[in-house]
Amino acid sequence: MAYKAESSNTKKRKRRNLRNLLWSIGLLFLLIASGFLLYWAYNSDSDMVRSLFGYESLTQPTTPPTRTPTVSPTPTPSPTPQPVNGTIIIDPGHGGSDVGCEAEDGTKEKDVTLQIAEALRDKLEDMEYAVFLTREDDHYVSQSERAKLVTDKSADLLISLHINSYSDTSVQGMEVLYAEDDNAKLLSKLILNDLIKQTGSVDRGVKEDTSIWLLTNAEAPSCCILMGFMTNDTDRTNLLNFVFRTEIVDGIAKGIDLYINRK
Ligand SMILES: [Zn+2]
Repeated sequence: MAYKAESSNTKKRKRRNLRNLLWSIGLLFLLIASGFLLYWAYNSDSDMVRSLFGYESLTQPTTPPTRTPTVSPTPTPSPTPQPVNGTIIIDPGHGGSDVGCEAEDGTKEKDVTLQIAEALRDKLEDMEYAVFLTREDDHYVSQSERAKLVTDKSADLLISLHINSYSDTSVQGMEVLYAEDDNAKLLSKLILNDLIKQTGSVDRGVKEDTSIWLLTNAEAPSCCILMGFMTNDTDRTNLLNFVFRTEIVDGIAKGIDLYINRK
């Protein structure tokens, strides 16, 4: 009986141990399973999983990250080409050793023609003309070099600037010379007309003169503007006056513009 009782107790103890072991195995299995479940859920991108577990996956979506596009340096825009109404060659008479006419006070034709040419260039450039000078400073330029610039630039016009002189110092006023060309004659008339309007100078008219080499050889309508007499006190004083020079420039520019836009 004692054996039986002992044997019965042993059986019970064994059964209890077995039950405990099974519980332990079951618990361990549950722990491992829930571990796997958590691991899978944690690494999953599924929306369902995210909604179930209420977290945002740390794994980034496979879509590539948005990058700030590499901005290539913007090329400097080339300046918008200005509309060009025409190409004008301005020829400041004389230069260098060729002084032109000279007043008793030392005023030299070559200096006055260059200064007025520069002002006329600025004015015409403001009016959107392409302008080239046969000389930009005080040096000698041959007549053939001056004519060549007209050809090289395919110029529409040549405007040569000079100052008159005469033995009779009372003679004064402005005149414009041209050579054997109707267009040059029209150009001369339009320029002189506005020159007289602007300056109020004495109008000595337009004159045909075939003796001036540049007028007969330049490959564009050409004229020679005689802006006054260096030998006349009134003209000379005016030619050295800033306001009067501005009026000369305005008159010539207006005449050129009328000629270019005459059609
Ligand atoms: Zn001259």
